[in-house]
Amino acid sequence: MKVYNTLTRKKEEFVPLEEGKVKMYVCGPTVYDYIHIGNARPYVVFDTVRRYLEYKGYDVTYVQNFTDVDDKIINRANKEGKTMAEISNRFIEEALKDAKGLNVEPASVHPRVTEEMDGIIAMVQTLIDKGYAYEDKGTVYFDTKKFAEYGKLSKKNLDELIAGASDRVAVDEAKHNSTDFVLWKPKKEGEPSWPSPWGDGRPGWHIECSVMAKHHLGDTIDIHAGGEDLIFPHHENEIAQSEAANGKPFAKYWLHNGFITVDNEKMSKSLGNFFTVRDIAAQFPYEVIRFFILNGHYRSPINFSRELMQACQNGLERIKNCRKEMKFYLDNCKDSAITPEEERKLPELDGFRVQFEAAMDDDFNTADAISAIYELVRFANIQVKAEASKEFVQKIQDMMDHLCGVLGIAEIEEEAETDPETEKIEALIAKRTEAKKNKDFAAADAIRDELAAMGITLKDTRQGVQWFRN
Ligand code: AMP
Ligand code: ZN
Repeated sequence: MKVYNTLTRKKEEFVPLEEGKVKMYVCGPTVYDYIHIGNARPYVVFDTVRRYLEYKGYDVTYVQNFTDVDDKIINRANKEGKTMAEISNRFIEEALKDAKGLNVEPASVHPRVTEEMDGIIAMVQTLIDKGYAYEDKGTVYFDTKKFAEYGKLSKKNLDELIAGASDRVAVDEAKHNSTDFVLWKPKKEGEPSWPSPWGDGRPGWHIECSVMAKHHLGDTIDIHAGGEDLIFPHHENEIAQSEAANGKPFAKYWLHNGFITVDNEKMSKSLGNFFTVRDIAAQFPYEVIRFFILNGHYRSPINFSRELMQACQNGLERIKNCRKEMKFYLDNCKDSAITPEEERKLPELDGFRVQFEAAMDDDFNTADAISAIYELVRFANIQVKAEASKEFVQKIQDMMDHLCGVLGIAEIEEEAETDPETEKIEALIAKRTEAKKNKDFAAADAIRDELAAMGITLKDTRQGVQWFRN
């Protein structure tokens, strides 16, 4: 399996530190508002990476944090007359709701900065003790010049960075170098704070991820991931902090997703060109948002548009209809063993798995993996016919379960159980079947028309009535 490593700018063979195990850390959102679809991209993409690693047999420990101490959270709390905790708890809950809707599996641990203060203070102290950090009037800075490899992830040259920064105004006087960054900052009036050896205050942004990764995964981890906007300075600074404090390499593979754009500009809160997942979910089911995200390679930009969402919804329906048809067939057909003719088609069936894995093994190419699923759908639509044996259809269904399961897409069972509209449709179909049995064809046709008006098409088969959304 090959993964593109931002650290080396190359696709590399994936070899975990410990056989059979993967330790993975993904930077999570700052919880001051609903997540937008750009934030949803790392959620969905790295959840899929995790699912694929698990499919490959790895035992994955997956850590995704919530940044619950931040200026933006404090600002919102002040504006609404609430505490920081009230705002962050609310939006953590909302983010978890969206994640669930997007079929993102809960992380092994979801640490929060406010619960990691002891570890943060300990790491900042270690950095001071080792000579990598210095304090000035309650602020602690990381000295970027002391860390010889500073810039290795973002491929930036420290001297050029320093020269560039000094061209700009308002360089913090207390800093030894303009590129030095804050590890701990002193309390400001009306802001939450924690006691520390440098006075009451709160941590800078970058230190939290170094500490949470160390606490929950150890000094060296396999995969560190996030959106590409985090490469510099956030991930560069995480490397500097962790490697300086622990004296060991931090992460073996650095994975970064590309942006979701609007009119080819990054979607972001500050530009105001964003759509929250919640807003989009009011127009398209959550599963379409997930499918939309996986339709592109995770490193390529995706331009968000209604048209593309619509196309994704149609594509997803095609897969789901195929799965429904198969399920219906299996629920209603008689037991029968695979025929010799069907046996001969098994290598072709397995070929879709091979094609799917080849795509995923090539740096998680979900776009090509979805193409393999479409081909499997085409195969299934041809093979699943009245004469197909139950055993053969079961094998096709198992393959579909497997491949869709890795991507977390096109699930069908739950919808049938939970959706009240589905219950209504099925009740109408039962009524129609009854009417037909009683030879009341006018009533049966009226029900068919009623369903058609709801966008439902019926198909009478030997196994009974099947329905599809148009
Ligand atoms: P934030 O809450 O801004 O720290 O972002 C949380 C995660 O979403 C980070 O991994 C970001 O890199 C990622 N992210 C933010 N905006 C976008 C976007 N437009 N496209 C893709 N990823 C994004
Ligand atoms: Zn982070």
